[in-house]
Amino acid sequence: MLNNNLAAPCGIYCGACRHYLVLKKDLLEQRGFKTGCKGCRIRNKNCVFIRRDCPALKKKELEFCYECDKFPCQNLKTIDKRYRERYSLNLIESLKRIKEIGAEKWLLEQKKFYTCPKCEGEICVHDEECYDCGNKINPNKK
Ligand SMILES: [Zn+2]
Repeated sequence: MLNNNLAAPCGIYCGACRHYLVLKKDLLEQRGFKTGCKGCRIRNKNCVFIRRDCPALKKKELEFCYECDKFPCQNLKTIDKRYRERYSLNLIESLKRIKEIGAEKWLLEQKKFYTCPKCEGEICVHDEECYDCGNKINPNKK
């Protein structure tokens, strides 16, 4: 079943996030985390970063950053840059894609994108690794 909580306002797919996967796979202790995350929309301090500094997201005036007059704001650009550099993941493009095809289709696309080609397990974009078989992979870097 599709979980709308997995589409973060900033364009990250929570299903590929370390904090989500360590909780889901029961790896908190093993990987040295105190807390995990059930997805940005359920709220979590570990999760990415924008909501903390954005009044519009805090007040839930926006579902996604692309809806904002200020899109892409400096806040988003900073995170986008970091994600592009570290993980080859472009959040601004991701948000444009959500706008184009809608969150539901985008979520299906993302789920497929982050599925391990070896074992059909779940790939973590932060660790660039399949959490089910250990396959080292970041689909953004193909
Ligand atoms: Zn795998």
